[in-house]
Amino acid sequence: MQSDNVAGNDDPLVVVSGVNKWYGEHHVLKDINTTVARGEVVVVIGPSGSGKSTLCRAINRLETVQEGEILIDGVKLPEEGADLAKLRSDVGMVFQSFNLFAHKTVLENVTLAPIKVRKMKKADAEARAMKLLQRVGVEAHAHKMPAQLSGGQQQRVAIARSLAMDPKLILLDEPTSALDPEMINEVLDVMIELAREGMTMIVVTHEMGFARKAANRVIFMAEGAIVEEAAPDEFFTNPRTERAQEFLSKIL
Ligand code: ADP
Ligand code: MG
Repeated sequence: MQSDNVAGNDDPLVVVSGVNKWYGEHHVLKDINTTVARGEVVVVIGPSGSGKSTLCRAINRLETVQEGEILIDGVKLPEEGADLAKLRSDVGMVFQSFNLFAHKTVLENVTLAPIKVRKMKKADAEARAMKLLQRVGVEAHAHKMPAQLSGGQQQRVAIARSLAMDPKLILLDEPTSALDPEMINEVLDVMIELAREGMTMIVVTHEMGFARKAANRVIFMAEGAIVEEAAPDEFFTNPRTERAQEFLSKIL
């Protein structure tokens, strides 16, 4: 799939350069270098503990890194300062565990950040939220509490919530791995649709069907490093490294 470069801007949206991170003695990100173009969909795969979530969290500025830098749309994370909330709102994040606010309705979950951070009027935020809920197919549940929804529905609300801030990039960290099998496709379908619409996405997932249908590139990580980067068909059919071959033989 070609990137849908509406803005006509060829600068990469995400630049990760020379990133190293340690937790104490543990070197969890090892010299990570990659870029993500506008409209590109990148799937990150690799064994548990290989640093996939840490990389996502670093890109979303939920974690700092000791070395290297991460730019989003040309902007580097400031060490400190009020820009952090704004920078973070450029990046939508969807977690494995949905992370909806349990004591707020579905609609409130989607309108909260636009009202608080973007100072949107409540009526405007609600009108927009309803459109987003419709887009992910859960508008009928707008006034329910998250616990009244299935996992697949909750995850679609989480996607709508991240879209409500008009992010430049959406990070999805194993968005379907906590779901019962029959709910996986309803979430993947929403993700595939977003990809088709040109959303820039970084998706940690082992769902090869999604990777083959929607991804421009697969990044394979092991032990904190990027071991292989390739187009999905190439990666799944002809992994170049032994590490990737071994990993694929386990999940295929
Ligand atoms: P993945 O998402 O690929 O499973 P993670 O990024 O969650 O991997 O973790 C990478 C490594 O960093 C693992 O060894 C994990 O135990 C360690 N790790 C993750 N978060 C923390 C933390 N907050 N403190 C210490 N070690 C951590
Ligand atoms: Mg993880």
